Amino acid sequence: MRVNEELCIGCGSCVPYCPMGCINLDGKAQIDLDECVECGVCFRSKVCPVDAIYEGELDELRLFRKTFSDPWIVHPSTNVPGRGTEEMKTNEVTGRFKRGYTGIAIELGRPGTGTRFYDVEKIAKACAAFGVEFEPQNPVTAIMSDKKTGKIDERFMNEKTLSAIVEFTAPNDKVVDILKSVKEASKELSTVASLEVCCRREPDGSLPMEELAKKAGFTPSLNGKVNVGLGRPLAKEE
Ligand code: SF4
Ligand code: SF4
Repeated sequence: MRVNEELCIGCGSCVPYCPMGCINLDGKAQIDLDECVECGVCFRSKVCPVDAIYEGELDELRLFRKTFSDPWIVHPSTNVPGRGTEEMKTNEVTGRFKRGYTGIAIELGRPGTGTRFYDVEKIAKACAAFGVEFEPQNPVTAIMSDKKTGKIDERFMNEKTLSAIVEFTAPNDKVVDILKSVKEASKELSTVASLEVCCRREPDGSLPMEELAKKAGFTPSLNGKVNVGLGRPLAKEE
């Protein structure tokens, strides 16, 4: 995002709108482009009284930031807007996660911190070591240069976005070791990470992932997340 310094009157109204805190006021507003994730909030809010904020032409890497950070943009690799993955919310229809398997998503970054992709790679590599298969309908998977090792395409390594989700399914007997590895790798991050695990309830009502997460040293907060009304429960049980 850019500021037209000739138009800017230095009122400062745009500063608190930036979730990354990267608009600085020094007489006029200045955007730190290394920190700006192209989320578009400052522009879409129409807060500027003189329309000095503008997007301009975005090159490939600025567009990359925007795709991961602007909720209105559809990821070309998945056709899903926002974070680019339907994740676990549609499991009742997609059946991504079968019995005996756990769906795992690790979200790097949030508004206020963002994430660089070298941090995304640290987590992806920690998981890949267990032979996991990364979710194909996920934009982070789409930019891996090696899906076996979790290596991210070098071009994007230092790019910053609001957040990004590493996502895969793992057999239950590997989950504890994977989650322990994620926990260890998260100590090396320069951003925040949130862990989501998902599984089907067993016929007796138990949730295998609850016990697995506890064994790995996490305290799970149980949460049923179903997009009611968006689909029928078509996913097969097995
Ligand atoms: S596009 Fe987003 S990150 Fe960039 S300056 Fe505007 S609000 Fe901040
Ligand atoms: S809101 Fe517009 S005029 Fe005010 S500081 Fe920001 S860019 Fe400048």
